[in-house]
Amino acid sequence: MEDIYVQAIQEIEDTGKLLLMTRQLLCAKQKERNKLALFSMEKILSEWPDSIYPKNKVAEILTYMKNHEQEEWNHSQIMNDLLEDIQNVLKTHEHFMLGYLYQAFAYMIQNEQQDIQKNNNDEDLEYEELDTIYCACMIYKYEDESADENARKQREADFWIWYLETLAQIQGTTLLRDIHFQPKTEVVDFSLISTVEQLVKAISYEFDYLSHEVKDDMITIQVFNLKNGAYCPTCHQFSNRVKFDYGGIMKLGKIKGISIRLYIKNNVYFCDNKACEEESFMCQSKVDYKERMANYKQMVKTLGNKRVLEILQIK
Ligand SMILES: [Zn+2]
Repeated sequence: MEDIYVQAIQEIEDTGKLLLMTRQLLCAKQKERNKLALFSMEKILSEWPDSIYPKNKVAEILTYMKNHEQEEWNHSQIMNDLLEDIQNVLKTHEHFMLGYLYQAFAYMIQNEQQDIQKNNNDEDLEYEELDTIYCACMIYKYEDESADENARKQREADFWIWYLETLAQIQGTTLLRDIHFQPKTEVVDFSLISTVEQLVKAISYEFDYLSHEVKDDMITIQVFNLKNGAYCPTCHQFSNRVKFDYGGIMKLGKIKGISIRLYIKNNVYFCDNKACEEESFMCQSKVDYKERMANYKQMVKTLGNKRVLEILQIK
């Protein structure tokens, strides 16, 4: 077994992830990458939630891609129509999984180039989020809405284990041992939530509840993200000296016709480290948009619609 495989196995076991850099070393041939990209999209299909976008339409795109040469994808009206349809749904029904689905297909089409090893066009890939395999991994991680944080981490690792095993098969090599990953986060029991304060903490432990109001068919919950200071992303020194604050809306979705949204306040902090080039910085949350959304969905699944509205004092 090649060294790069040994390194990749270690990476998955240590972090539950597989870096773009490692994937590029593992798989330099565009043809192999394209094959893996198709397989990975097929992998996500079985659990794809119909509520976000019709599963049969996703299947239709994949079937088309499988049955036609890559060069044809880019010039085909059918493919354009299929992708445009996803884009249109995205305009009114913004959902990060659908965004990933679109991006996954878009990158596959863009990568119709031939198999030229040294003109490795992935080298320019600045954002991992553009890569089909990465998008597929994120979809796989979040597809099961009842999965808690640990289960999601496990799913992410399982995806990369599957990736490595499939790649080994394509490349005609065998992995010499099984890969094991065990997530170690202490998960909160969502069934114990009984107050709005606990409810927002369950979405992100970095949130502090401020207030909430019910108006017509809309509940707005105000929270503060990282209100007690944060670490400067450049020099890593802690600061709680506030320069100014700003806020933004995050839509959580509807329950029984009632829209629920967060108004998230954030501080911009001064960096007081004289040696640091930053005068001030915005906070970088550990719990990103996807995790907040997934936590919320899992909570609603655990508590049920009725109980969530009760906690929000709507009878
Ligand atoms: Zn700094």
